[in-house]
Formats: sequence, C-alpha cells, structure tokens
Amino acid sequence: MTGAAAELTLGDGMRIPRLGFGTFQIPPDDTQRAVECAIEVGYRLIDTAAAYYNEAGVGAALRASGRDDVFVTTKLRNADQGYDSALAAFEASRRALGVDVVDLYLIHWPVPSEDRYLDCWRALIRLREEGVVRSIGVSNFLGEHLRRIVDETGVTPSLDQLEIHPSFSQPRLRQTCAEMGVAVQAYSPLGQGADLEADAVLAPARRLRVSPAQVVLGWHLQSGRIAIPKSTHVERMRENLALDEVALTDSELAAIDALDRPSGRIAGDPATFDFSQRLEDAAARGEI
Ligand code: NDP
Repeated sequence: MTGAAAELTLGDGMRIPRLGFGTFQIPPDDTQRAVECAIEVGYRLIDTAAAYYNEAGVGAALRASGRDDVFVTTKLRNADQGYDSALAAFEASRRALGVDVVDLYLIHWPVPSEDRYLDCWRALIRLREEGVVRSIGVSNFLGEHLRRIVDETGVTPSLDQLEIHPSFSQPRLRQTCAEMGVAVQAYSPLGQGADLEADAVLAPARRLRVSPAQVVLGWHLQSGRIAIPKSTHVERMRENLALDEVALTDSELAAIDALDRPSGRIAGDPATFDFSQRLEDAAARGEI
C-alpha cells in the first residue's frame, strides 16, 4: 500500500500523512500560489520552517483553501535556539502561519557546538503541554542527540526529519530511530532531483511505466518513511502524489538501498552544521 492519502500513526498517537509537500527554496512571493496549488491537487501535509521565510505564504494558502484538514509542520530556526528564545520564536511562527495550533514543531538542527538543543527540547515539551502544538519532533538529529534529549526529559520526539534519498539513505541512523520509536521523515527525498537517473531507479520505472520520481517516492513509502518532495510545477506535484501503481519488488527496493554512499550527502553534516539561518545569511547562500 503506497497511497499518498495514507497516514502513519506517530508514537504520540498523532496521525500524519505519509506524503507531504516541501517548501524549502520556494520564494516567499511564490509560496501562496505553490501551496494553494499543492492543496488543490491533494496534499494534506505542508512542510515549512522559520528559516524558509515563507510561513506567511503557507498561512495565506491555508486560509485561501478553506480547509481545516491540512497538517502543518514548521521548525525552530538555529538563530533562535534556547529556552525562552524558542518559545518566542514559536509564537512568531504561529502568528506568521495564522493558526491557533501548529500540528508539528521541529528543532531544525541540533547545532551541537552551541549546546542549546536540550533547552529547545524542554521548550517544545512546554508548548505541547500548553496545547499550542500537537506533536513535537526534531530534524537532523543524530543518535547521540536523540538519546540525550530522551534521557534528560523522558520525552521521545515523534519524528526525526532527515536527509534521505537513494544516494544518501542513512541506514544506521534509521535503525536507531526505529529502535527508539522515532518515525523517520525523509527530506530532499528526490535528492533534489539528482537521484533520478540511476539504473536502479530507471529499471523499475520502465517496468511499471511510471516516472523515476515516482519510483523513488514509492521506495520511501514502502520502506516505512514519510516523504516531503517539493515542486513548484503542478504536473510534478500531481505526479509525486500518484503512487498507487508503484509496487516495487524486494530486489528493486534492495537495489535502490545499495545506492547509499557516504559522499551522497547534500545538506550539512549535523555533527558540525552551525549555520545561523538568519535572513541575510540564507539569502547570501541562495536558499531563499
Ligand atoms: P527534493 O528532493 O524534494 O527535490 C526537489 C527538486 O526536485 C526540485 O528541483 C524540483 O524541481 C525537482 N522535482 C520535484 N518533483 C520532480 C519530479 N517529479 N521529476 C523531476 N524533478 C522533480 O528536495 P528538497 O530539498 O526541496 O526537499 C524537500 C523538502 O524537504 C523541502 O522543500 C523542505 O520542506 C524539506 N527540507 C528539510 C531540510 C531540513 O533541514 N529539515 C533540508 C532540506 C529540505 P521543480 O520545483 O522545478 O519541480
């Protein structure tokens, strides 16, 4: 079963769509259009972040859609790490989105050099207790970061949003997440488009008469992950949701798993990544 409308139940009992829509690098002034379009074609999970500077566009699209069944994720920006600053940053995100309750709030990166992710986790626990967030989780957390916040607080993140695509699929970290009861959500699930030409992807695409992107997304869903592909084009938005025909064999799944290699990483290494995610820095890096 790979239906895009299907949901997964998180450790805290919250249900989350298994396929969502990513908004990283969608410029603020194009976000409302893209997200309205995504909701129109059927997406019911939208992933944004304070660091994408497009939460207001996501909020405008939610209101324009008139729907109340769209699951919204946003994330705490690195520059806002700390207990009080995380609480204030959450309030700013909630205002930008224009919602009373955020479905899922994540710590975007651990930034171990600052050593504030544990304080952030305590702030997220408080937000959930106050009822302004339904589910809390993390992103880019390695096993050591996950174990520390769970050991110190007794609260397990509902999910870890991680870079996972065929050429960088992090099997050991996924195993750690499984052992800890942390769901895995794949970001850059298509390798930002770079993983779509491998033979292990093209062969099942030919057999099933589907696109390479559909094969890769089917691989994620059949492997038990949530995936959040991004596209600004409506045909691709539709294509990435239409996965009912994608049923890969065990050997096809294994052949895609075998593409994993250490050099396949696109984003930063969470052990060392300490980028501030401030507007001017992000703009200078071409991220917004
Ligand atoms: P993706 O792997 O989703 O790839 C997006 C790229 O693939 C775009 O260039 C898009 O082009 C292209 N594409 C989309 N669909 C197709 C298709 N069917 N066929 C061919 N090309 C296609 O990369 P992202 O990095 O955007 O990751 C997805 C989401 O994950 C982000 O938007 C964000 O929400 C989240 N993320 C989280 C991070 C974190 O640190 N937590 C880091 C990075 C991403 P086009 O738009 O032109 O169609």
